[in-house]
Amino acid sequence: MVEPLIFDYSSPGRTTASLPEPDVPVEPIEQLLPASLIRQDLPLPEVSELDVVRHFTRLSQKNACIDTTFYPLGSCTMKYNPRVNEEAARLPGFAQIHPYQDEATVQGALHLIYDLQRYLAEVSGMDAVSLQPAAGAHGELTGMLVVRAYHEARGDRARKRVLIPDSAHGTNPATAKMVGYHVQSIPSDDRGNLDLAALRAALGPDVAALMITIPSTFGLFDEHLAEIMDAIHQAGGLVYGDGANMNAMLGQARLGDLGVDVMHFNLHKTFSTPHGGGGPPAGPVAVKAPLAPFLPVPLAARRERGDGKIEYYLDFDRPQSIGKVKAFYGNFGMMVRAYTYIRSLGREGLEAIGETAVLNANYLMERLRGAYDLYSDRRCKHEFVLSARRQRRTTGVRALDIAKRLIDYGFHPPTIYFPIVVDEALMIEPTETESVQTLDAFAEAMLAIAREAEENPEIVKHAPHTTEIRRLDEVAAVRRPNLRWRPA
Ligand SMILES: *Cc1c(COP(=O)(O)O)cnc(C)c1O
Repeated sequence: MVEPLIFDYSSPGRTTASLPEPDVPVEPIEQLLPASLIRQDLPLPEVSELDVVRHFTRLSQKNACIDTTFYPLGSCTMKYNPRVNEEAARLPGFAQIHPYQDEATVQGALHLIYDLQRYLAEVSGMDAVSLQPAAGAHGELTGMLVVRAYHEARGDRARKRVLIPDSAHGTNPATAKMVGYHVQSIPSDDRGNLDLAALRAALGPDVAALMITIPSTFGLFDEHLAEIMDAIHQAGGLVYGDGANMNAMLGQARLGDLGVDVMHFNLHKTFSTPHGGGGPPAGPVAVKAPLAPFLPVPLAARRERGDGKIEYYLDFDRPQSIGKVKAFYGNFGMMVRAYTYIRSLGREGLEAIGETAVLNANYLMERLRGAYDLYSDRRCKHEFVLSARRQRRTTGVRALDIAKRLIDYGFHPPTIYFPIVVDEALMIEPTETESVQTLDAFAEAMLAIAREAEENPEIVKHAPHTTEIRRLDEVAAVRRPNLRWRPA
């Protein structure tokens, strides 16, 4: 059933609020606004507060979300957002401060920013961190601007190329291009590693950096990482580590120790802050010491005052900085959540994340092995990639159909058709926050769909059967989005 829109139960004169008559003189609107901005008629729905609450509550219930559904969206790390993070972010001392407030009045907030910079440096083995970037892709842009500034400061202007594995997230090549680099794709070998010979052949004095995702977007830990790092460094290039998917690494290995020079984190993945509609993201950037002077301004810093007391401040005195990349200091509320997450888990808890993320992904991979083709037979890290090429060949059922059928079984589908180098890819990331019962239920659904594909492929090809709207025209939804209600 298609439910009525809020506009459909609009009734003239109904409002959500009744305000008292003003007790000050009312200026005519014509004196406040230019005539061109004044509308005589504004066709907005006239509804009560209850209508509004029901409308938005219903809409929210139509969404799949991590609070209602297992959400194994590979590479996106849709894990639980602990409620204690939300409580901390709503503390008035954090939630109600203003960015123009005097530093002396926001010492607690600055202290938190400073400590979070340090914690992220510690878990990644890097030397300096900026929390400013407002998303993973924005962190990449910031990191690659730092790479460019570093080479330029050394007078090394011949470096025009950035090498990127063919399995990379699409944001990597887009970022390198935006920063003005020529992108060269490096193939993967048949074990899912970066093809070392192809990498070596591509190296030269004009290579600025390699952007490499660790663990890779196949969910694999590259077996030649040390050789890769050495080869890039010997050629005078820098290694950009895409650390968006750090769950598997937490407490286990540090990108800085592996040889990465600059990297970003996704607080909204690894550090459990909400994604997308749940809140703005954050993509902090971490660098090794030689790149630190180029980080955005300001960084949170700490100094001793004349009277011996410690104070925190924003350090704008950084002449080689690439400048600002975000208004004020970034998405502060997300910093509070990530800080709370790290503090509530501690060292042991962070180590357990790495272990459990890998255990959960391998458990699920083993349960599905046999029913679907695996991209790689190796132990995976935080995620693994299945292929529905067998189903497609024998029954015509595609990865898209399997994803849609999962909705009928009550699960959010995994990422599909990515990485693009895998045919009929289904990329599954369970995350460490799921119980074995949930993983088993999902495995049973995937196995049932594999059986259906053989016995009754039509039911899979026409899924979902349980949703209000069945298959969307996804191309039209992107090209011609219809986002606006217009009065009849
Ligand atoms: C999610 C992701 C990104 C981009 O992060 P956004 O916050 O979505 O911009 C980059 N690289 C990898 C490997 C990712 O998984």
